[in-house]
Amino acid sequence: MPEHGKTKFIIVTGGVLSGLGKGIATASIGNLLASQLKVIPIKCDGYLNTDPGTMNPIEHGEVFVLDDGGEVDMDFGHYERFLNIPCKFKWNLTMGKVFEAIRQKERRGDYLGKTVQFIPHVPNLIKNWWFEISKEEKADVVLIEIGGTVGDMENELYIEAARQLKKDIGEDNVMYVHVTYIPIPFGTNEQKSKPTQQSVNLLRQKGLAPDLIIGRCKELLSKEIKQKIASFCDVDESAVITGLDVDTIYKIPLLFEEQGILDILNKRLKLHVKSNHDAWRKLVEGIHNGHESITIALCGKYTRLEDSYASVIEALTHCGPHLQCDVKVKWIETTEENKVEKDLKGVHGVIVPGGFGGRGVEGKIRAIQYCRENNIPFLGLCYGLQLAVVEYARNVCGLSGAHTTEVDEHTPHPIIDILPEQRAVTEKGATMRLGAYEAWVKKGTKVHELYGSERVSERHRHRYEVNPAYHDTLQRNGLVFSGMSPNQQLVEFIELSKHPYFVATQAHPELKSTLIKPAPLFYGLVKAAKAFTKASKA
Ligand code: GLN
Repeated sequence: MPEHGKTKFIIVTGGVLSGLGKGIATASIGNLLASQLKVIPIKCDGYLNTDPGTMNPIEHGEVFVLDDGGEVDMDFGHYERFLNIPCKFKWNLTMGKVFEAIRQKERRGDYLGKTVQFIPHVPNLIKNWWFEISKEEKADVVLIEIGGTVGDMENELYIEAARQLKKDIGEDNVMYVHVTYIPIPFGTNEQKSKPTQQSVNLLRQKGLAPDLIIGRCKELLSKEIKQKIASFCDVDESAVITGLDVDTIYKIPLLFEEQGILDILNKRLKLHVKSNHDAWRKLVEGIHNGHESITIALCGKYTRLEDSYASVIEALTHCGPHLQCDVKVKWIETTEENKVEKDLKGVHGVIVPGGFGGRGVEGKIRAIQYCRENNIPFLGLCYGLQLAVVEYARNVCGLSGAHTTEVDEHTPHPIIDILPEQRAVTEKGATMRLGAYEAWVKKGTKVHELYGSERVSERHRHRYEVNPAYHDTLQRNGLVFSGMSPNQQLVEFIELSKHPYFVATQAHPELKSTLIKPAPLFYGLVKAAKAFTKASKA
């Protein structure tokens, strides 16, 4: 039996449907506890990839990057934004990692003499992984979100580990939360409990009994349905709460708190957490509150799926309460490059976010040129920086045909080229320049003013960089390198001094933005966009 201190474990499972906001519910529980306890989130995914780094964001949503370089599930974005802590790669279990660990142990001889089997070896390994994290982090609470929907075969082994936990560490130390769906079918106008009953039944067949049920619904759950769920699913009526549809996810912790979730958690786990949410509430009230609205265009080829740019959108939302404005996003698909200028009419700022490959690239370059020539506030993120440099090389430095070698290997001017250490890399998984890297920022630049520091650390995920052979030409033609890697080789930030706000970075500052502390470059963009609306009205 693994050694165990006083850590409490909260296990979150999902039922009925995917996409019910299980990640947000988990993060919200963490948010309520984290002001007084050390809460460590863990996500368990059923897929066999080691990590989501090689998955298409259209299929899987954004790949979130951590300080330690780990590429993880986008739920970690919610955890970091709600818990205000940097997470670690180890906290994302995938069946890919689990089976790899089992195979390594087997080869090492750790199971010598034994037949290695799904049961008991896999749940044991999973539990040990959880315990190890809890010990390493000296956690008061470990919050474990199990991916998928109960009944999915690929998550069974996590559920089994979660079931065994109760016996291993005692009833007072484990709590099970089930996030489910309460439909109101068209025409009936009635909240329906049957899917929840069936999903809880399924959970019970696996030996798990929920202590708290969060029913996602478009309206508050009625007393009748709470009673019904309480009686069929064997929970207290007070332990059935609504996961209400809301206009901003940041309201969810407040909503849970209003429904008494802290009492339920305190009682069940013998905790003493008090409500402590005034500062958060004030910020949340500042989101979408009828202030002047600012439209920021987001240009890219994954614009159809909001999840692919989740952190960019959140980082924009974070600026609203601090700048008293309501930030709206306009999606611009850049594959039809001749439409770009027309689509950009009336927007107050533009973001060209991260991306890969050639599709939509000329449209993005057109958007950047339009911003540069018309003084429209612009922020480039990673690929956005690279394409801003391509645009500058072509249209200001006169280097016709300049390009990134990612798109055009034979360009006469490889202004963006592969990082030297990437040349020999053949494997795709976890081989980019990943994680937190420091940049040295020049005094007197906008970037310096916004960060208020000469040393800046942001997260990265790229293989290409501004080609050092062109640094001189670009700078001679007026492009300001406002931040460089400490060895002065890599361009980390650029800006234009005569433009109201033309800033780009090789990093992904959106990944560290929070409601309490918005990412400085996003703050700068929204502030400039606000000034731009005034100027265009004048
Ligand atoms: N495709 C570019 C590179 O690999 C940019 C990556 C990104 O935007 N994350 O360098």
